Amino acid sequence: MTSEVLLADQFYITGTINEKLVQLQLFKDRIQISPPEENISDSSDVTIIILKDILGIHATEARSETDKFAYTSFPNYLQIFWYPQMDVEKDGKILFKFRRRHIVLSLNTDLNLNGQATTSGHRLNLWVKHVRYCAEGLPLICIEKIYQYTSPKEKPILFLLNPKAGQGKGESIFWRAVAPYMREAGKPFELKLTERPNHAREYMGTESLLKWKAVIAVSGDGLLYEMINGLHERPDWRVASKTPIGIIPAGSGNGLARSLANWKNEEYVGDGLEQTSLGIAKGNIHPLDLTFIETEDSCHYSFLSVGFALLADVDIESEHLRFLGEIRFYLLSVLRLISPRYYRAKFSYLLADEPSNKTETDNCTSIPRVRQDTSSSEGYESMQGDNWANERLRSFSENKHETSSGSLESIPDIEHDNDQVSSNPSSTYSNTNAKPQMHIPNHGYPRLSEPVPENWKTLEDDFVIISAVYQSHLAKDLCVSPESKPNDGHIYIIMVRGGNFPDGKVPRSLMLEFLLKCESGEMFYHEKVDTLKVKAFRFEPMDRSVGNLTVDGERIATGPIQAVVLPGAANIVS
Ligand code: ADP
Ligand code: MG
Repeated sequence: MTSEVLLADQFYITGTINEKLVQLQLFKDRIQISPPEENISDSSDVTIIILKDILGIHATEARSETDKFAYTSFPNYLQIFWYPQMDVEKDGKILFKFRRRHIVLSLNTDLNLNGQATTSGHRLNLWVKHVRYCAEGLPLICIEKIYQYTSPKEKPILFLLNPKAGQGKGESIFWRAVAPYMREAGKPFELKLTERPNHAREYMGTESLLKWKAVIAVSGDGLLYEMINGLHERPDWRVASKTPIGIIPAGSGNGLARSLANWKNEEYVGDGLEQTSLGIAKGNIHPLDLTFIETEDSCHYSFLSVGFALLADVDIESEHLRFLGEIRFYLLSVLRLISPRYYRAKFSYLLADEPSNKTETDNCTSIPRVRQDTSSSEGYESMQGDNWANERLRSFSENKHETSSGSLESIPDIEHDNDQVSSNPSSTYSNTNAKPQMHIPNHGYPRLSEPVPENWKTLEDDFVIISAVYQSHLAKDLCVSPESKPNDGHIYIIMVRGGNFPDGKVPRSLMLEFLLKCESGEMFYHEKVDTLKVKAFRFEPMDRSVGNLTVDGERIATGPIQAVVLPGAANIVS
């Protein structure tokens, strides 16, 4: 710990019955609050606020006003909100959780400034500037620099809220659990309600996103899925797809929010609203893998899963029980355990540690595609030259598994360039109607219409469960792939199939075990459950008239499907 005191004043802690006089000292990495006496005998009287734990510090006019944290000329109080991390033990694992701390201080003007109110306000603003400056980790070149420092004016964060998600309580959830954190952090934000299915997709696909620092879904995974797909329908998809996005779990299927907490080793408290809101308010950004999914007549970008057989059936067939929240999944699961359904299908895959055999540079000739990543070299070059911000963003998410993350503050604002990519006139893919054109990535694998490559393996069987997942959790209490991380570049396959049993029938006891252990992820390691780690797969149901097929929990037409992982293709705020 550094010992150089950058700022020191005496304050009264307000809010208690008797105001208590304390000494505040700012160091490069912390604030120390101690009794005013010169020699502190009892260290229990000392409170340390680590700067990186501070969500917001504000000089305010009134001590209880919650929505006036913006700069004010004559503040009377200094308010600090901080969230120290605590360890909790759960199921033999050490997890983190955050505890909210808040302090309101008023300057001891008698001692510090001979009672001049305006100077008191100046001094409080100075504290705010100093703390923000140091918390940003900026170099302490000279004190004048800090005096001149003003936090960069931030663009607002847009929250897109699906009022029909989950039990339909999104709006009250937002004002109760999300907005307070944004206010504490002093971050501007706006709320927009979706009016219909696909509204979020249209918004992300057509509106200028320049004015937002990030766009956050307040919903289940379905709305984020719409948003991501909208981003890839834009002419400027290359930059727009890097728009920081995020999710507040307000739906009935909240797999991503739960998975992110799991990845960060955070205890998931209750419905996870408080901690995800805190994460969004802090604004850390991480790369997130997407998969590119192709069916015979559509393509999709997905961040969570492709489901067929039991898990997809439960998800879709429980739709009409939406009012029950996540419990709907369990009710249906129990029903389906009593009478399991078998689906015959062919499954082909490329193992993760198998060489791809894809040609990174010359494959453009062998694979017909629309709007390849390299198709518009002119636009690409010019963009690279013009826009260092885009380059910076791109380097954030390309091929940097598990290593790179940053904060909303440290990422330059995105500049969208509508002319980066010309649409390819040779397009033959699916977009013959007036729908917006989805960008097809240059992933280097064969398209669905082409034969399965020789280095892929294929199996055919009767499946009771077959899911492809790239996050640990599909729902709050459904961990199917404990090994998955947001940016590991892998798709995990989980299968329960008749072929593993002498009579071709999956024992009920196994199904029951699956249900009982689905919260912990234990079934992933069960000897009768097959798991694979792949980079790409193709799945062909033999009878397309039966069974549900889902992408991120949203139903699509049952038929052949191929998925290819796109490492770090999105930026997630968490
Ligand atoms: P849940 O987890 O409860 O299913 P989702 O966010 O996944 O919540 O949303 C479910 C569906 O609601 C999505 O398919 C989405 O298209 C649709 N949707 C979004 N906005 C609206 C709206 N305003 N009215 C009706 N449906 C909507
Ligand atoms: Mg959903």
